[in-house]
Amino acid sequence: MTPAEAAKTLGNSNDRVRVHNLSVVLRLVHRTGGVPRSSLTRQTGLNRSTVAALVGELVERQLVVEGEPDARNQVGRPSPMTLPGDRPVGIAVNPEIDAITVGVVGLGGRVLRRVRRATAVIPTAEQAAEITADIVAELRAELEPAHRVFGIGVAVPGLVRVADGLVRLAPHLGWENQPFAAMLARATGLPVRAANDANLGTLAESTFGAGRGVSDFIYLNGGASGIGGGILAGGELLFGADGYAGELGHTIVTRNGIRCHCGGAGCLETEVRREPLLELLGLDDADADELEAALLASDDRAVLAEVHRQLDHLGFALGNAINALNPRLIVLGGFLGSISAAEPDHLDRVVAAGPLSAARGQPSIVPTELGASLLMIGAAELALEAVLEDPTLG
Ligand SMILES: [Zn+2]
Repeated sequence: MTPAEAAKTLGNSNDRVRVHNLSVVLRLVHRTGGVPRSSLTRQTGLNRSTVAALVGELVERQLVVEGEPDARNQVGRPSPMTLPGDRPVGIAVNPEIDAITVGVVGLGGRVLRRVRRATAVIPTAEQAAEITADIVAELRAELEPAHRVFGIGVAVPGLVRVADGLVRLAPHLGWENQPFAAMLARATGLPVRAANDANLGTLAESTFGAGRGVSDFIYLNGGASGIGGGILAGGELLFGADGYAGELGHTIVTRNGIRCHCGGAGCLETEVRREPLLELLGLDDADADELEAALLASDDRAVLAEVHRQLDHLGFALGNAINALNPRLIVLGGFLGSISAAEPDHLDRVVAAGPLSAARGQPSIVPTELGASLLMIGAAELALEAVLEDPTLG
């Protein structure tokens, strides 16, 4: 190797170390939503001047900003805060049977915009890609150049091959082997990644929400397409042998129940549904927050009876999952959070009445902390991953 070549190799490896360190710092800022400089030094194990240089480069690239020291927890010398910058954003997409929701999410899991476009019929994959591309074009016209869009992440209510975003099966949408990520990439010119919605919700809740710092929890989401779940076990998402784990929506909760599209009958997701609640409340459509508000405002006995009936089934399914998985925490999203909030003690009572609960104690059952933003934040993680991995992209 000539001295020039040796210098170049050394330069390349220094570059790689620098990019890696920039990534470590940016991820810390992203995950915490803002962190004192002193704590960056402590958590990275790098020396103060190196951290200062890394933060300086991230500021220059408009990925972070520096703020005043946090006056609330002042120990020792005041240390400036490093906060997520506003410029980098990811676009999140959640196609459902009745609407397509598109969000703009900044670093730190901040949802800046959310657009929900109702569809008259269940969209095909092509139609969903087209509608999404229209919304994305409108959003980009508003956002750029103040923001830079790094890509699109899609939360799909179905099974997704994560490597290329092929939707293997989304039963409620009626999509089978649809290359949705590729369609959307073609229609928008942006990089697109896709994954299962419940798994993305679980990761979002684990990074930014009620599951922070909890290594074993179950996340269960009720959406227009039924009930999906994600399981974090020992700090890792549980996929199972073929990636189908977490289908808690198909736990059998009653004999002789309603037939389910999965081939079974009496599944949790056929017995616990949003539609009967909307009907009883006289609503055409409502997101989880609106449904919760309507349930809390209602004094109709029929509504209360339906809420109790659904919570009984939900509690039965949760009892089985708790015995199998021994979670510390159960996080309920979508309309499951809404019905649980309408009668907060009912679900705890049902679960506590189940087998073994006295011996093992009971996990806390809490609503998602991220609320209606959960899937947007989870999907955007897919889009922002590129810049988190290599901040010199920015
Ligand atoms: Zn089923």
